Amino acid sequence: MSNDKASTLRRPGAAGNAAKSAPRPGMPGGRGMETAFGRPRNSLNNRFVYAVISQRARGLSIGVNLNPDQGCNFNCVYCEVDRDNPGKGKRVDVRGMAQELESLLGVVAEGGLRRFAWFRTVPSELLELKEVALSGDGEPTLCPNFKEVVHEVLYIRSRARFAHFKIVLITNGTALDVLEVGQAVRRLTNEDEVWIKLDAGTQRHMNQVNRSEVSLKKVLANALAMGKRRPIIIQSLFPLMDGKGPSPEEIEQYVRRLGELKVAGAQIAMVQVYSAHRPPHHPNCEHLPLAELSAIARRVRTVTGLRAEVF
Ligand code: SF4
Repeated sequence: MSNDKASTLRRPGAAGNAAKSAPRPGMPGGRGMETAFGRPRNSLNNRFVYAVISQRARGLSIGVNLNPDQGCNFNCVYCEVDRDNPGKGKRVDVRGMAQELESLLGVVAEGGLRRFAWFRTVPSELLELKEVALSGDGEPTLCPNFKEVVHEVLYIRSRARFAHFKIVLITNGTALDVLEVGQAVRRLTNEDEVWIKLDAGTQRHMNQVNRSEVSLKKVLANALAMGKRRPIIIQSLFPLMDGKGPSPEEIEQYVRRLGELKVAGAQIAMVQVYSAHRPPHHPNCEHLPLAELSAIARRVRTVTGLRAEVF
């Protein structure tokens, strides 16, 4: 996944394409804000920790890449991670990650991000830290030392050397039933957030979009189990594939799945409806028009009563 999860990540140094990003409805409309979103994350010469101005975070997000090897059990049609030249090592060097995170938190705290050319023109309100995201160039919960990384980030926060920050886990949900992953997530507080990907209401559509061996049934079961324990945020990305968006029938099924989760007891704080903002690796995948995204969000609100926003 990427921050903004891997779904919106690029490898450090890769070129971005701000022109493709749609301005987020409801955001202050200055030109600087429009172009700040949709840019690639900035690695600031780090290996594990990066900074990105995220639409869904509504500002500055510091991300921790838990997938140095770019490993993922999905192969989303809209994924921006270039896996032709995969990175090395599945484990995160926790000490190195901690040093990078503390260093970047320090830079942000002293207002030093503007020293970097990339952030020079970003409006000040977007440079306030909104979250530290556990994300990656793949699925973060597949990281063999995921639990250790979560504990380290919690430890850094507990030392209170920097202003308190929210932690957001951005996941495709497929490994939330793994014992160690569940144990680590339980350490997060109620103000932290778990964002779970749900891009489909049918297995057929999931096969087309996420292209994984993992079943929709499993994703839904894991989302339900997590949603019963704590509020979750559902992230749903609808791409235009070969010029076609999801069918009306698919959207009805997707909305029905959300309704079923809610009725079964999942606490869904919000549904984020969005599309492929930056150039994906797959050439025939584009941004779904905003009008269609808005119609999907409206349908979610009308049928399920859940809060749904377009990003
Ligand atoms: S393949 Fe999908 S789940 Fe995996 S990193 Fe890419 S967008 Fe995220």
